[in-house]
Amino acid sequence: MQSYLKELVKKVYRHPQVHVWTDATITEVTGYVGNFVTKVVSEGRTREVKHGVAVIATGAQEYKPTEYLYGTSDRVLTQLELEGEIVDKTDKVTGAQSVVMIQCVGCRQADRNYCSRVCCSQAIKNAHKLKEINPEMEIQIIFRDMRTYGLKETYYREASEKNVKFIRYEADTKPVVEAAGNGFKVTVPDPVLGQMMELEADLVVLAAAVIPSPSSADAGKFFKVSNNPDGFFQEAHVKLRPVDFAADGVFLAGTAHYPKHLTETISQAYGAAGRAVGILSRETVIASGAVCDVTESDCVSCGACITACKYGAISFHDTPQGKKARVEPILCKGDGLCNAKCPTGAIYLKHYTDEEIFAQIDAALPAHQEDHL
Ligand SMILES: Cc1cc2nc3c(=O)[nH]c(=O)nc-3n(C[C@H](O)[C@H](O)[C@H](O)COP(=O)(O)OP(=O)(O)OC[C@H]3O[C@@H](n4cnc5c(N)ncnc54)[C@H](O)[C@@H]3O)c2cc1C
Ligand code: SF4
Ligand code: SF4
Repeated sequence: MQSYLKELVKKVYRHPQVHVWTDATITEVTGYVGNFVTKVVSEGRTREVKHGVAVIATGAQEYKPTEYLYGTSDRVLTQLELEGEIVDKTDKVTGAQSVVMIQCVGCRQADRNYCSRVCCSQAIKNAHKLKEINPEMEIQIIFRDMRTYGLKETYYREASEKNVKFIRYEADTKPVVEAAGNGFKVTVPDPVLGQMMELEADLVVLAAAVIPSPSSADAGKFFKVSNNPDGFFQEAHVKLRPVDFAADGVFLAGTAHYPKHLTETISQAYGAAGRAVGILSRETVIASGAVCDVTESDCVSCGACITACKYGAISFHDTPQGKKARVEPILCKGDGLCNAKCPTGAIYLKHYTDEEIFAQIDAALPAHQEDHL
């Protein structure tokens, strides 16, 4: 992965049309598909970028556990921290005789009820690496379900063949970690043996949850795109538009969407890039004709339509008669929510006027049926 990244970083920096700003913060986004204007502060300088599309890839982070003595001993590590120790071949790793790994830490529970997807494979990967360093090392993985899906199942089998031991636990009988001598004692009921297991460990390694990047919520607000209850971004349609947001011209890739492996992130990034280029390759953006408009003389400036619109398509503008609502047609999705809220009927959806809808109801429900109802 490191060599792949190194090459990619080189390509990006060398490309004459790719500009990279580090330590950058977005402070404002205005506009819409084909015509965004974003203000970015980077290294003390504010720049205004005009762009046609945006790809949001704000990523995710590893949860900092509060469980299992994490933070009280430097021998209780997360899987990511263990990876760093393995790369650096530290004494902590080379000197360890026994390692206990605990899966699903901080997720698949009431407050974070999702699977972090990468941690089972990551644990197996790290177990293999530890066995390469010391084939005699005792490695026990305490898991709820081993989700080494697809071809990663092979690594799981190979780990078993190398004598990595797997012990299942239930959500309501979590393992208990206690300090014991220079190491730890881990106790957990084994549902297969029906017995309490007591394990010794020089290192305890926690498969900590993958959580959304803290800046995802801000990025979402700037581009008016939504997050799910767990804080990851919500795609427009899980099967039909998996890299699109509901807002036109904004796409997503990577773990900002949900936890996924690098290979899956890269595939999704290709998808997002393809969708983005589809828009950029056109001279003009074609919008739907079924959009809302306002009869200004009827508008009483109550703002109900502005609050109702999920796409930020309506705003006030000054007229000689005071503030009046105005619709930006390219942002309007024609869902008509604003129509239902308007107390005066000033805002209307083209091609779906009240007269047309009433006529359809009359046609669908002949007079005798209406009487019956
Ligand atoms: C703990 C953990 C272990 C993992 N283990 C594995 C593994 O073993 N194998 C595997 O294949 N995959 C693994 N993954 C998944 C893999 O890391 C991801 O698929 C991949 O890194 C996602 O890439 P990304 O670009 O979406 O996000 P990231 O790599 O998270 O990058 C997002 C970038 O956006 C930046 N950013 C965030 N917000 C803003 C903002 N507002 N403005 C500007 N920049 C911003 C961040 O600083 C970061 O540099 C793991 C993930 C985690 C969290
Ligand atoms: S990938 Fe494995 S360890 Fe991670 S949350 Fe899912 S089941 Fe638990
Ligand atoms: S809801 Fe109707 S009256 Fe109120 S601001 Fe919007 S268009 Fe004007």
